[in-house]
Amino acid sequence: MIRLQRVTKRFAGGTEALHNVSLRVDAGALAFVTGPSGAGKSTLLRLIARLERPTRGRILVNGQDLETLPRRDVPGFRRGIGLVFQDHRLLLDRPVHANVALPLEILGFRRTEARKRVRASLDKVGLLQKENASPQTLSAGEQQRVGIARAIVHRPALLLADEPTGNLDPALSREIMELFLDFNRVGMTALIASHDLELIAALGRPMLHLENGRLEARQQPPAGKPA
Ligand code: ADP
Repeated sequence: MIRLQRVTKRFAGGTEALHNVSLRVDAGALAFVTGPSGAGKSTLLRLIARLERPTRGRILVNGQDLETLPRRDVPGFRRGIGLVFQDHRLLLDRPVHANVALPLEILGFRRTEARKRVRASLDKVGLLQKENASPQTLSAGEQQRVGIARAIVHRPALLLADEPTGNLDPALSREIMELFLDFNRVGMTALIASHDLELIAALGRPMLHLENGRLEARQQPPAGKPA
């Protein structure tokens, strides 16, 4: 699903956010990207979503080489991806359902189909009963779940999440990770950046560890934990 071959990303100004990174995430897998702040996790996800371009190296997503992806095909490519951020950036003047419907509006979905999908998406994150609420009245964990509902409403094959539990307490963080595991069980591939090693080690999924833009040897799930 995702392949990086010797990818380096140097920003204008000289910062090398990623250095010679090669990795592979198979279709149907759920993997974590770990590493301290500044290690290059966001940059990695942004390259995979083609929000940034590599300085060197090759990136393939779903068999598509991003280097040769024609500009006109970028929107179609992005439609296959769901993005979750730490800061979910909900529109506070619109109810929950309208926030979740945004990607479908942009994609030109008919209203009846959009409404159906929005409800299905909110149901998946356990927030159907809050569809008419204002985001301001929701807890931090609920707001993050609205952001996740919005990220999956167009049913992407690949979910990229950047520190999705960054602002949440341990119990809520665990709930959010469980949601991603649920999505993965029904076939969504996921790559999740997190510095919360304690939480993700307990989940027993592959971890890709970045330090200073370099990928360290792939860590296996700790012995005795379910894979
Ligand atoms: P992480 O997500 O692990 O915290 P980032 O990918 O955000 O790391 O950042 C990696 C490095 O690249 C940092 O040194 C950061 O300051 C730098 N960086 C990230 N984005 C940019 C940018 N747009 N311009 C210049 N430097 C950047």
